[in-house]
Amino acid sequence: HVTATRPIRTAELLAVGSELTNGETRDSNGGELAGFLAQAGIKVVRITALQDDLAAVTEAFERALREVDLVITTGGLGPTPDDLTREAIAAAVGEQVAVDPEQETWLRGLFERRGMRFSDVNLKQAWLIPSASALPNPNGTAPGWWVDRPDGRVAILLPGPPREMRPMWQNHAWPRLVERGVGDGRVAKVLRLYGIGESVVAEKLGDEMLRAANPIVATYARADWLDVKITAFPSPADGRTAEAVLAEGEAAVRAILDTYIWAEGETTWPDLLHELARKNDIRIALVEAGTGGTLAALLGEVPQVVRFTVHGLGDWDGNVADCPVQVMAHEAAKETGADVGMAMAAHTTPTETLVRAAVVVPAMDAVRYLDISLFQHGRHGLQRAAIAATAHLLETFGARKAPGRPSDRRRPKG
Ligand code: AMP
Ligand code: MG
Repeated sequence: HVTATRPIRTAELLAVGSELTNGETRDSNGGELAGFLAQAGIKVVRITALQDDLAAVTEAFERALREVDLVITTGGLGPTPDDLTREAIAAAVGEQVAVDPEQETWLRGLFERRGMRFSDVNLKQAWLIPSASALPNPNGTAPGWWVDRPDGRVAILLPGPPREMRPMWQNHAWPRLVERGVGDGRVAKVLRLYGIGESVVAEKLGDEMLRAANPIVATYARADWLDVKITAFPSPADGRTAEAVLAEGEAAVRAILDTYIWAEGETTWPDLLHELARKNDIRIALVEAGTGGTLAALLGEVPQVVRFTVHGLGDWDGNVADCPVQVMAHEAAKETGADVGMAMAAHTTPTETLVRAAVVVPAMDAVRYLDISLFQHGRHGLQRAAIAATAHLLETFGARKAPGRPSDRRRPKG
C-alpha cells in the first residue's frame, strides 16, 4: 500500500444509481456516511446522486479526486452492464480492469456453496484495477474497492444496498481508514452557549473564522443550547500541534463569545445545576406554576433539589404577573430548609410565553427576579421557560461571569 501522509479532512459522497435520480429509491447511504464522517471530524463537502451513466460517474470521480481527500461511492457494483462504478473509476484514474484470481476463486466458491450456476456476467464482480484492493462483502456478491491515489487521496467503492454497505463500511473500510491515519491527531472541543442565537454567533465569529480549515469552527443549534465546536489538526506547515491550534482557536472564540459560554463538552442543564449545587453545598426547592411541570422535567434528576411543586395558574386567573413568585419561593425554601428557593410562573399564548421567576436566598435576605417574554410558545415555549428560569437560577450563583443579552428574550419588562 501507499504510505500516505496526506491528511484526510474532506470527503465527497457519490450515490450511484438511476433508481435514485428517478425517485424510486431515496439515498439513505449518503446521510448515514456523512453523519459518521462528520463525527470523525471529516468535512463532507458534497453529497451527489448520479444516474447509471458512465460519463457522468467518471466525471464525478475526476472532479472529486481533484477537490477532496476522500471519495466514497455507494451503488453500481452489481453484475449487470448498468452497474458501472468500477468502469468509471478505472477510466477516471486511467487504469485497466482485470479479473483478480483471488476474487474469482472467492466468487465462484460463493456461487457453488449456494448451488447457483456461475455465469461469466458475474465475473466483473471479481475485477480489480492495479491501484485497488478488495473490501470483503459477507452479505452479497459484490466486493467493495479501496483505491489509493498517488497523491494520497483515497476512493472507496461500497455496494448500494444498505445492509451490505453498512457492515462493509464499519468492519472493513472505516478500520482501514483509521489504520491509514484518518483524522489523525485531531482534537476537538465543544463550547455550550446560551442566550444568543445562531445567526448572531455566526456574525460575531465572522466568515474568516467559520470558513477556516484549521481549526474548523462550526455552530450547532441544539434544542436547549447552541454549541460551538472547534476541531483542530496538527499544522505541519508551522510545526504547531493540534492541541496548540485548538487552544488558539478556543481563545479566539472565547474572546468573542465569553459572556454566553456556560459549559464545555456534553454538559446539560441538570449537569450544570448539579455541579454548582455540589460545589457550593446548597440545597434547592423549586416551585412552578402554569408550566405543566417542565421545570421538574428538566431538573428532575438533580440530587440537591429537595422539592418540586407544580401548580396551575388557576388561583391567579392565568395571570403570570399576579403570581407571587417571591412569596412562593420563600415559603418553599423555609418549609424544606433549602438554602435556595425558586418559583416560576409561565403562561403561553399563541404567539409568546410570559415568564416570571424569583430566586430567594433566605439566609442572605436576597431575591432576584426574572421577568421576560419568549417568542416560543405552546409546549415548546414552556420548555424554554424552564430553561430560562434555570439559567436565571445559575446566573444567581455566578455560573456565568457576566449576563449576556439573550436573543430569545424579545421583550424585557420591568
Ligand atoms: P446497486 O449496488 O447499484 O446494485 O444497488 C442495489 C440496490 O441498493 C438498489 O436497487 C437500491 O435498492 C439500494 N441502494 C442503492 N443505492 C442506495 C442508496 N444510496 N441509498 C439507499 N439504497 C440504495
Ligand atoms: Mg445500481
